[in-house]
Amino acid sequence: MSIAPNALTIGVDIGGTNMRAAVVDAHGEILDRAATLTPNSEDVLVDKLVALVNTLRDRHEIAAVGLAVAGFLDPDCTTVRFAPHLPWRDAPVREIMTDRLQLPVRLEHDANSAAWGEYVFGQAREAGTWVYFSVGTGIGATIMHRGEIFRGSFGMAPEFGHVTVVPGGRQCSCGKRGCLERYASGTALADTVLELADDCPEYRRSPLLHTASTGEEIMNAARDGDALGQAVVGEFARWLGIGLSFVADVIDPELIVLGGGVVGNHDLFLPAADRVLRQSMVAATHRPHPEVSVAKLGSAAGMVGVAHLSRYAENFPN
Ligand code: ADP
Ligand code: MG
Ligand code: ZN
Repeated sequence: MSIAPNALTIGVDIGGTNMRAAVVDAHGEILDRAATLTPNSEDVLVDKLVALVNTLRDRHEIAAVGLAVAGFLDPDCTTVRFAPHLPWRDAPVREIMTDRLQLPVRLEHDANSAAWGEYVFGQAREAGTWVYFSVGTGIGATIMHRGEIFRGSFGMAPEFGHVTVVPGGRQCSCGKRGCLERYASGTALADTVLELADDCPEYRRSPLLHTASTGEEIMNAARDGDALGQAVVGEFARWLGIGLSFVADVIDPELIVLGGGVVGNHDLFLPAADRVLRQSMVAATHRPHPEVSVAKLGSAAGMVGVAHLSRYAENFPN
């Protein structure tokens, strides 16, 4: 059973930093938006989520709600098992939110939601085997093969962001050390600033060392010519390229679509990351290379994708 073809649904993208909501029609067009910062206690999170949805429901008639969550879900998408950047632990979020909102609720992993948006409305229409790779607070990824999301046996796949790249390296919020996302994410950039300045005295004059900087501020400093910022972006590009070479070696996709907030500055690092990818892939000179492109729906991909999935809240599309 799906909802009426002309009905509107809400998609909410619940990230480690921001919660963004949109009213979306059946064609993936966004009619209205609302946003708030992600709180770090469970009760406040649920209350803020309800308030965010109700802000939009006051202005539109809504048939269903989709929640795109930056965390590990069970395979039938009812429970958030664990989320490195969110307070939910083994929380039956679909039931909690259905009770609170009195609407059908579809829960989905945030990267899967964004991948679905790109597959139905964006950069990956017609793609056979492809990977969505999102770089924001952390790294989230989705493998799609012949129109289906590949979830693995227990709903965990794929977690490229938590592959160990530096044994004993930077502490990750997942509990492990040296995960890829500690080197190639929006939040990793600030750690690289400190590490490079520690290693190299010439960087110590950079204004980036005197303020706690966001990923955006660090990349903007690089754009404005700051030497430390440029070195940090160089390191980021190298790690991203290595990460993408894992994707290419394990999945052999025709297409990798990059999403997430950091992609707003893709011109600064994508050419270098693509070069590293091409050099690091196995049998690099004897095989076709995946096309790497930027998400067409941008930061709206997760909201649009999960709003579309919520149209089928009663029977999952795969
Ligand atoms: P979330 O992880 O909450 O879904 P985003 O995908 O927007 O959120 O990613 C937020 C992270 O990305 C933050 O660490 C932020 O500093 C960084 N970031 C956001 N936009 C940019 C940008 N244009 N350039 C570099 N870093 C960015
Ligand atoms: Mg996100
Ligand atoms: Zn990790």
